Amino acid sequence: MLPAEIAGAFSDLGLPGYRAKQVFRWLGRGVTSFEEMSDLSKDLRQKLDGLFTIPSLTMLRRQVSAQDGTEKFLWQLPDGESVETVFMRYKHGNTVCISSQVGCRMGCAFCASTIGGKVRDLTASEMLDEVIRTGLAAGDKVDGIVLMGIGEPLDNYDNVMRFLKLVNDPEGANIGMRHISLSTCGLVEAIDKLAAARLQLTLSVSLHAPDDETRSKLMPINERYGVDALYAACRRYFDVTGRRISFEYAMVKDVNDTPRHADMLIKRLGGTGSHINLIRLNYVSERGLRPSSEQTVHRFVKRLEDGGVTVTVRRRLGSDIDAACGQLRRGQMRKK
Ligand code: SAH
Repeated sequence: MLPAEIAGAFSDLGLPGYRAKQVFRWLGRGVTSFEEMSDLSKDLRQKLDGLFTIPSLTMLRRQVSAQDGTEKFLWQLPDGESVETVFMRYKHGNTVCISSQVGCRMGCAFCASTIGGKVRDLTASEMLDEVIRTGLAAGDKVDGIVLMGIGEPLDNYDNVMRFLKLVNDPEGANIGMRHISLSTCGLVEAIDKLAAARLQLTLSVSLHAPDDETRSKLMPINERYGVDALYAACRRYFDVTGRRISFEYAMVKDVNDTPRHADMLIKRLGGTGSHINLIRLNYVSERGLRPSSEQTVHRFVKRLEDGGVTVTVRRRLGSDIDAACGQLRRGQMRKK
């Protein structure tokens, strides 16, 4: 519940506004019972305990990377489903990567999260709890959030917007919008809706191919919104928000990693100030696609840079702990 909603419910009970603030603050710190809210009287705690529940995620698994300290959690939701959250340590701060749905219905050919389809959307409170509980479990401060875990955040638009409000609240987790990135496979109408909300978050678009032929092979969503429509939506997003979009591009051997693909990217994005985040595909055993070689990636980057496109190559944090999208939940499902 947002602070104003708690205040509304409390006022119906005849409780003053500052009580709502106190409770919201405790929830932001991750307490899971009213009993722990030590600045409320014992009577009040018991009363609230009888009227409200504080749902919370429980840890099913935790893996810590020996390579880079990345931690990955499998959380159980109140209905028994599970999602993954990753805690990453960077020089510039700690980032939590959260899931937005149980499974995904977007069907990308390289992704482990979508194999069993979508089970359900996550609620705003479940996403918030991913952030809070992961920070507490990792024993470290959360500086930023990326919505790049399981699920398509713009396919769960209302809950994600509500989550953003909750996590951004200064009395709660207090994560600034500029420290939040949202990644989408390219739902054009939802991108326009998000633009109109004028948030200061960073929008990442999973491009993965510069042309319809290649992109449709990798991402079924491209049949609905082709590359032209997607680029146009990105342009509108920039015009409305003034925020540059970053494009994600997973390098798949012999599929999207040729000089021809680099040249098409240059033609589209060269000189626009757009930024490409390259990553070598994380191999997912069910999927059959292979990562491009280091050498191919190197040549691809050089060609893009020579063509005036800025590129960063993302390190694959936590590759020793299956830290890529959906792999831990898949492992759990296989065992079941
Ligand atoms: N649904 C959203 C966010 C979740 S996926 C989206 O599509 O953007 C987060 C990122 O991981 C996306 O760019 C996605 O394309 C990428 N991804 C998924 N599986 C991958 C894999 N096996 N290797 C590399 N990147 C992958």
